Amino acid sequence: MIAGLAITVQDKVQDTVQEVMQTKVNLLGLTEVGLSDYMVSLGEKPFRAKQIMKWIHHMGVSDFNSMTDLSKGLRKTLSEQAQISAPEVVSQLDSVDGTRKWLLRVGGGSCIETVYIPEPGRGTLCVSSQVGCSLDCSFCATGKQGFMRDLSAAEIIAQLWLAVGSFNGFDPARKYADGEIGRITNVVMMGMGEPLLNFDSVVAAMNLMMDDRAYGLSKRRVTLSTSGVVPMLDRLGEVSDCSLAISLHAPNDKLRSELVPINKKYPIAMLLDSAQRYINGLSDNKRVITIEYTLIDQVNDSLELAEQLVELLRDVPCKINLIPFNPFDLSDYKRPSNNRVKAFQRVLNEAGFIAPIRTTRGDDIDAACGQLAGAVLDRTNRSARYRLKSRTALNGSDVEALVVDGPKSEADSDNILARG
Ligand code: SAH
Ligand code: SF4
Repeated sequence: MIAGLAITVQDKVQDTVQEVMQTKVNLLGLTEVGLSDYMVSLGEKPFRAKQIMKWIHHMGVSDFNSMTDLSKGLRKTLSEQAQISAPEVVSQLDSVDGTRKWLLRVGGGSCIETVYIPEPGRGTLCVSSQVGCSLDCSFCATGKQGFMRDLSAAEIIAQLWLAVGSFNGFDPARKYADGEIGRITNVVMMGMGEPLLNFDSVVAAMNLMMDDRAYGLSKRRVTLSTSGVVPMLDRLGEVSDCSLAISLHAPNDKLRSELVPINKKYPIAMLLDSAQRYINGLSDNKRVITIEYTLIDQVNDSLELAEQLVELLRDVPCKINLIPFNPFDLSDYKRPSNNRVKAFQRVLNEAGFIAPIRTTRGDDIDAACGQLAGAVLDRTNRSARYRLKSRTALNGSDVEALVVDGPKSEADSDNILARG
């Protein structure tokens, strides 16, 4: 499933185009404050920002000459100095169940993925925050790809901009029939990457998602999902009031540290305290933490662990999403049987927890949770080590130590954490 990483001629042309374009300011990722400052720097009134935001995010316009309520002079200046530019769409795949997946080129031979999931009464866009991920959770396809770079705010909001444009176009007043595909009511930062390790760009993009001059999504319907970067979660509470999902996956530190390595640095008690502080700090007191629990056969899906989870979360205001593991090429883990998943759920339900089982969507286009791989030109060499490991396992020889003890992934995570 992981696409070949050779840099094609098309990639090179694209990179050259991007280098030329980089000298221009990309207005797509600017919040109202940023855009107002830019207008002032051009000698314009700050309120021009409001007009331009509507053109970009309400009407999907990327050509300054079409912005008819701006003066001709300003339109000319903007055409020379600025751009409204989104990543190139390499492919757009539709599943039989209505799920849609985009592969977007982000330069250097790398691509990211974005997924739209229609459900009765709502449509959710699953958005990526980084090219790959440095954190290397054992059950995640993105983690196995290593890490290339952070996405810019423009590249993050572009995923929503492109998705809106790809369905019915830009018309905020459009009424949708029940069950009609294409309406985007929710965004979850659950695509490729760890959003809290790309803090400023993710916060700026989420602000645009929730801003009435852009997408006007309810703060209850924009969710940041984290594997537990505690210091950044504490900072999030100071600047955002989006909803929060915690990727827990295990009820004790020993098991969680095996599945989610960042747990060694920020263990469960610390993470849940921070998540509680975040939720308590929100202006409305109705919101709860979403706990994500990926169920892996014979690894974290026993009834004993379900009981432990009940004890752990007894006083935490939360709902628990149960996600049966989605298999991918480089993983030996298995999805549990439906009976095991239901038995785990029953323990939680009987203790009073809301614990829906997330059904797999977009299976035919590899769009399920945790399968998003895109194509990452990996700076950490982790992906090569995993591929070597899986090939060698097939050949029967043993380079386990080389693969498992490879120094670069840990060091890379630490550097990235230190940067935050
Ligand atoms: N880095 C963030 C957001 C991206 S991962 C985080 O970890 O929360 C989004 C969700 O997909 C997480 O809950 C993650 O645990 C889950 N996930 C990853 N790989 C999976 C897989 N193979 N099967 C099912 N869920 C998976
Ligand atoms: Fe990164 Fe999230 Fe995947 Fe872990 S689960 S490797 S944090 S994207």
